[in-house]
Amino acid sequence: MLDPEDMEGLIPEHMLERGRVVLEAYREPVERLLRERRVPDEGWPEDLIWSFLWELSRMDTDKDPRAARIGEREARVASRLAEASVFGFCHGVGRSGTLVDPQPKAPGASIMYGLTNRLVEDFLRRLGYSIEGAFVVPGATGLCLTLCLSALAEGEEVIYPYAAHKSPIKAVRLAGLGMRVVDTEIEGDEIVTRPEDVEEALERSDSPAAVLSTATFFPPRRSDPLPEIAELCEEYDVPHVVNAAYGIQHEYYRDLINRAIKRGRVDAIVSSTDKNLLTPVGGGIIYSPDRGVLEEISRAYPGRASAAPVAHALVSLLSLGMKGYRRLMERQKECKALLDELLEELEGRRDDVRVLDVENPIAAAIAVEGHDPVDLAARLYVRRVTGPRGVRADDPFGTSRLRGYHSDYVTINAAIGARKEDIRLAVERLERELEGG
Ligand SMILES: *Cc1c(COP(=O)(O)O)cnc(C)c1O
Repeated sequence: MLDPEDMEGLIPEHMLERGRVVLEAYREPVERLLRERRVPDEGWPEDLIWSFLWELSRMDTDKDPRAARIGEREARVASRLAEASVFGFCHGVGRSGTLVDPQPKAPGASIMYGLTNRLVEDFLRRLGYSIEGAFVVPGATGLCLTLCLSALAEGEEVIYPYAAHKSPIKAVRLAGLGMRVVDTEIEGDEIVTRPEDVEEALERSDSPAAVLSTATFFPPRRSDPLPEIAELCEEYDVPHVVNAAYGIQHEYYRDLINRAIKRGRVDAIVSSTDKNLLTPVGGGIIYSPDRGVLEEISRAYPGRASAAPVAHALVSLLSLGMKGYRRLMERQKECKALLDELLEELEGRRDDVRVLDVENPIAAAIAVEGHDPVDLAARLYVRRVTGPRGVRADDPFGTSRLRGYHSDYVTINAAIGARKEDIRLAVERLERELEGG
């Protein structure tokens, strides 16, 4: 906002010039961002992000000091605390018609949302996704799945390769759809979905609405065979929605998704902003190789929404930059390698532990003998280890298989954002609990 030209005569010219140089260092990244609409390579300092967001929100009508505001929704807030929690974007985003449409009362928030979506597209493309578009939804993964299904479903019954997550099952129900579960099979230590079982479900269903497949699983469940399912969806002319909740953090899932896009039909992919972009919980990203599909999904959203999850995604992208994110991806791989190594050592020391042989880039699982895995995970929680999941072999919900599994097991994650110290402490405390606490 400050223009050094207006300040001429107030201080000596050479000092003004010096001041201008500093101002320029802050103005230049903002101008470049608005011009190029790409995620910066280097992350921005926090005060720059802060002033940029507040300047944008100052364009909204609720900031106009001379406005007469007589609507029932005028972005009035009782406390500045609440206003600060959304960087001033009190009007939220969206219109009753479409989530991504500009909101007349909120030019600033609409620019913020449009820009965020462009940056997320750029981000995903630069990470190597063969997609055409993406947008951030102010709702977490489960709600995003509901939104996709309610927009895309063509029949009454969602074909669902079974996953041990309650939220996708509720997402289907919330979309007003029925469900045909495809049971999984055991191959070695892995629990897998077989494409022929998905095909059988498609054949048997009188009214297939969509296939809801899953990319990201806890071991011992393996990712669904997305390319084969995509091929079936094309053959049977059924929409395909992919749950890739925490998939963006690793190329393994990108490659799987790209192969599916290349081979057949993928309508929409859903990932969480908090699990991938390290934001507070509350947002999701929907991306697709087809822009028209994204518009349909955006139209399905009922009303306006909080700007906070969108702004949080923008803050993460600006603050990390591409380089920062890639560094985090590298560190995740290092943490997973460390986790595998420590668990192997643990297995070598103990005969009540066996590392399960499962392909998974983020998490590992160990079969435990002579311990109740649920109790073990509960004791780890008390020992201040969050995240491990203990599953009994005969728990059909936990094992992602309706007919049980061959071992009790505990899973441990090395997800993006974890530190080596977290992994070391977790395995150390796990061993102590195996010893009997
Ligand atoms: C985290 C997760 C969900 C639930 O996501 P929310 O963001 O809590 O709605 C669903 N499916 C999978 C595979 C997940 O990892």
